[in-house]
Amino acid sequence: MLIDNHGRQINYLRLAVTDRCNLRCNYCMPAEGINFAKREQLLTTDELKFVAQLLIDMGIDKIRLTGGEPFVRKDLMELLRFLAPLEGLKDISVTTNATLIGSHIAELKALGVQNVNVSLDAIDKETFRRITRRDNYEVVMENLIRLIEEDFNVRINFIVLDGQNEQDILPILEAMKNYPVSVRFLEEMPFNGGSRSFGSIKWDYKTILDYIAGHYPQYQKLDSPKTSTSINYKIEGHKGTFGIIPSFSRTFCGSCNRLRVTAKGDVITCLYGKPKTNVRDLVRGENSEEMIREAILGAIGTRAKTGFDAQKEHQASVFDNSMTSIGG
Ligand code: SAM
Ligand code: SF4
Repeated sequence: MLIDNHGRQINYLRLAVTDRCNLRCNYCMPAEGINFAKREQLLTTDELKFVAQLLIDMGIDKIRLTGGEPFVRKDLMELLRFLAPLEGLKDISVTTNATLIGSHIAELKALGVQNVNVSLDAIDKETFRRITRRDNYEVVMENLIRLIEEDFNVRINFIVLDGQNEQDILPILEAMKNYPVSVRFLEEMPFNGGSRSFGSIKWDYKTILDYIAGHYPQYQKLDSPKTSTSINYKIEGHKGTFGIIPSFSRTFCGSCNRLRVTAKGDVITCLYGKPKTNVRDLVRGENSEEMIREAILGAIGTRAKTGFDAQKEHQASVFDNSMTSIGG
């Protein structure tokens, strides 16, 4: 079991398989993209398998594959085929923009991948195009509905962006009313590769909830697992649920169970902190498995208590980074 220096069990790995993406969401990166990693800087398929296996042996039982867009990586399904039968891994999930997942849905199902988070910040086609800077709306909607109809546990991640998509908050809830999905509204974070800069947000947790409650007074708070980052609710007459993730306010740090490994192998113990070690360099160097374990234990043993503490590790701005490098 992995326990950090504040007594929190770490059992959830967010593994970014690439920093590349076929969309250019304006809250994630600038229009021209970021300085993407060179191919040789990314963990290879074998390195991804090794790192995943090592961390499972150390106590990770849930892995989320993310990116960049995980499905731009041609060997993603090979990695999933490796992970699916591993003993000790109770949950494999994927976070995706749903543009490229279509041809893999049947195999994902056969492999037992149940949880798919789809990032969708608009229900209106034009709003989608403005935010993502691409024209993939139709394919995303088609894949989203297919995933739901194929009984995946689908959660939609919708970042509330001031002046861009607040008009879609209620329509997306209406559009999803008859589907068993969870629509999660996220506070925007300033990890956007420099595409925007801001020190506070208008659409924080409370504003989002008040706005939804104003239109659906018949809503109820649901019980959520202790480690959940979303606070979840049900609207009467809706088949699914909705949630709010206070990702900017960071009220969930006390129960954080996550470890992040970026596509370049950086080991990140808090989204707001600095990388603590680099597992790619350790694997490529002359290090025994024991030495790699020790480095990871060292990182987990010096974890910041909260995102606000972790932020102090940075001399300059923590927010120069993009989510496409960190994996969300
Ligand atoms: N490309 C995939 C996708 O969009 O789902 C996976 C990677 S994406 C970086 C992972 C998550 O980070 C997405 O749900 C995305 O909405 C979220 N994200 C990206 N930039 C963000 C920001 N500035 N604030 C909050 N969440 C952000
Ligand atoms: Fe790509 Fe996801 Fe970032 Fe959008 S949020 S640009 S889909 S990595």
